[in-house]
Amino acid sequence: LKGKQSFYTLWRNIAERKKSEEEMLRLSSILEATSDFVNIAAVDQRIVFLNKAGRIALGFGEREDLLQTKISDYSPDWANEIILKEGIPAALKTGKWIGETAFLTRGGVEIPISQVVVAHNNSNGELQYLSTIARDISVQKESEEKLKKYSAELQISNSELERFAYVASHDLQEPLRMVTSFLNLLEKRLDGQLDGTNKQYMNFAVDGADRMKILIKDLLQYSRVGSNKENFAATDLNEVMEYVTRVLKEDIKKNQAVVTVNPMPVITANKTLINQLFINLISNALKYHDGKEPLIEVGTTEKPDYWTFYVKDNGIGIDPKYFDKIFIIFQRLHNKNEFSGTGIGLAICKKIVDVHKGKIWVESEAGKGSTFFFSIPKNKI
Ligand code: ADP
Repeated sequence: LKGKQSFYTLWRNIAERKKSEEEMLRLSSILEATSDFVNIAAVDQRIVFLNKAGRIALGFGEREDLLQTKISDYSPDWANEIILKEGIPAALKTGKWIGETAFLTRGGVEIPISQVVVAHNNSNGELQYLSTIARDISVQKESEEKLKKYSAELQISNSELERFAYVASHDLQEPLRMVTSFLNLLEKRLDGQLDGTNKQYMNFAVDGADRMKILIKDLLQYSRVGSNKENFAATDLNEVMEYVTRVLKEDIKKNQAVVTVNPMPVITANKTLINQLFINLISNALKYHDGKEPLIEVGTTEKPDYWTFYVKDNGIGIDPKYFDKIFIIFQRLHNKNEFSGTGIGLAICKKIVDVHKGKIWVESEAGKGSTFFFSIPKNKI
């Protein structure tokens, strides 16, 4: 029985050793097959193992070539500095470090990599090996660079566009003033002399000039949002709402509207812009109704990081398929005979909210009223 037992022990030992050899083999075939670079280095940075992907990437054919060299020979100086100062201390402290550095091939080409460095200790708890698993992130880096370049170009073209809108609308004011004043003069001179059709033509001309004046004013306002970003200060929105309802007093009265304003917070904002934002949203709420007396509610909800404000109306509502379109400049859902407007109001709102690093959106159902929301983060700017 004793002999049998020791035979079993022996057999089990052999079986276990075979199993661990098989596991090692399986592990190394995985390491050889992966497209990630896998490297194991001794404490003095000497390469103990570098898998196939790593050998190919660095420009080596055989593993033996590398055994006497150090892994630091295959990183540019700046990357070695990061690994020595940041990577290895962190790996020693917490077991691993994740970072972005680069490999340097034999041919002197830098390959940007994302890497994980793991510290392996011996049974006495002393550092024995450092292993690195790295992935080529050249493609990702390239697209990041492109994105940066395009955003910079976009920013330039946006500010050029703003500048153009500003100059154009500013310079258009003067000739328009001339058209308007001579039309007025003509109208006075011809008072009583114009018959039906000619009178109608005159009205069209005056009307056109009036609309152009509003368009230029709105365009100018649009191009100016964002040019005074620095004026952010504690702004009491209760005061803002008092001002806004005072400005819109006539409009509210004319429409027999009821505007309910809930208690508002003090936020960091540009007061002039926030005034404009509420004026635009409430003007729309006063405008887009089909004869029913407008009931408008303004309020807020507080979240840990931001405020959300809303302007709710009981007007004609908006079909959800137009939710994005309405915030684009010049986009309108109605012609001027149904509801007057330039299609710039909500684009101004969006720009104002953007300047405050917030978001603006609408919830609505055609015929059931609309609620415009915007959020403003608490810690920005
Ligand atoms: P404007 O009012 O000058 O047309 P806006 O940019 O303010 O321009 O609005 C764009 C479009 O969004 C409007 O033409 C209208 O169709 C729709 N809209 C805006 N506010 C409301 C609202 N409160 N209710 C229904 N529709 C609205």
